[in-house]
Amino acid sequence: MPKKTIRDIDVSGKRCLVRVDFNVPLERQDGQIVITDSTRIQETLPTIKYLIEKGARIILCSHLGRPKGKRTPDESLAPVAPALAALIGRPVAFAGDCVGPEAKELAMSMGDGDVLLLENTRFHAGEEANDATLAKGMADLAEIFVNDAFGSAHRAHASTAGVADYLPAVSGLLMEKELAYLHDELETPQRPFVVILGGAKVNDKIGVINRLLDKADTIIIGGGMAFTFRKLVEGITLGNSLYKPEWEPIAQAALDKAKERGVKMLIPVDALITDSFDFGAKTVGNTRYTAVGEGIPDGWEGVDIGPESVKLFSEEIAKAKTVLWNGPMGVFEIKVCAKGTFDLAEVIAANQDAKTIIGGGDSVKAVKKAGLSDKMTFISTGGGASLELLEGKILPGVAALQDK
Ligand code: AMP
Repeated sequence: MPKKTIRDIDVSGKRCLVRVDFNVPLERQDGQIVITDSTRIQETLPTIKYLIEKGARIILCSHLGRPKGKRTPDESLAPVAPALAALIGRPVAFAGDCVGPEAKELAMSMGDGDVLLLENTRFHAGEEANDATLAKGMADLAEIFVNDAFGSAHRAHASTAGVADYLPAVSGLLMEKELAYLHDELETPQRPFVVILGGAKVNDKIGVINRLLDKADTIIIGGGMAFTFRKLVEGITLGNSLYKPEWEPIAQAALDKAKERGVKMLIPVDALITDSFDFGAKTVGNTRYTAVGEGIPDGWEGVDIGPESVKLFSEEIAKAKTVLWNGPMGVFEIKVCAKGTFDLAEVIAANQDAKTIIGGGDSVKAVKKAGLSDKMTFISTGGGASLELLEGKILPGVAALQDK
């Protein structure tokens, strides 16, 4: 997916409208709004610093939360300006709207290397509607559009796609990295290429399974969706485990395709089961591991993979040269059901001969919680965007960028 990046064009002295993902968690503490996790700001610093170094004039825009076209003070991006200023060691000006006379005046009076942050793009209903007037209004502030918001690239909004109708559009360095690992690297992977997919529902992941059946040597299925596969392959009972009859034909088609392509499909052979489970209270009743090949008894449900499954999966992962992981092996939000997910994170991290790519969402949370982030080759910042890219979909925010 060779898209032009900020390195491919001359940005010095140019006003660059940079779409970032500053959708950070905010909390009111003692009457003050505080950013509780600045990871998303940190992730885009390479792009901002590169542009500063080149003497570009940097106009940052982002959405925050879901204000749905209304100005909601608790979803203002204003607190991000001082936080960013502290991280880059220079002032960050703030405009109270992402279009209009104030933004225009501030943009036009910028010097080389100056940084300006615009207010939440979603304060305008036109953002999510990809309204041309809003897009043109933002584009009028700048000479170049830079998209570094991979996490929003699956949405055709005014600030992610619309502005590219009016400005030359290139990717930032975070966007470039995401596309390199979640797309380019998987087109021609180092083999064996092992894909591990978990999560709750078969229908949510089937797009990814189908696409990766064309690329992978082995696909490992875990999490809630594995039970449908186990019913089909082993004919076991599932008790109250996650399962829907309509998932069966979808899973069967994937099994057939794997056989046809010579792709090895591994499913769990044991499970952690419980006789009651309260997701809200994060508690479970009695628990035990099933024996290998044993079904889930009536009144019980599977909430994690068991030790024999971890062992089976580990042997495959240890041999891999490329590993892609998306989705937890169990209800990892509850401590007693998280062992399979964390054990697998350890196994992936231990294979330092492989490129290890963590493809977004809950697996990213698990890797971070396990303190294994720096042992992985790449950790995606996108949730929905990663999944859609892995499914082979064209992301509007990427399609809008100029080809190399
Ligand atoms: P996804 O967003 O599709 O990756 O799914 C993640 C969710 O799947 C997490 O909230 C997990 O708690 C849930 N999950 C994983 N394994 C199971 C399981 N065996 N039963 C129910 N939910 C599960």
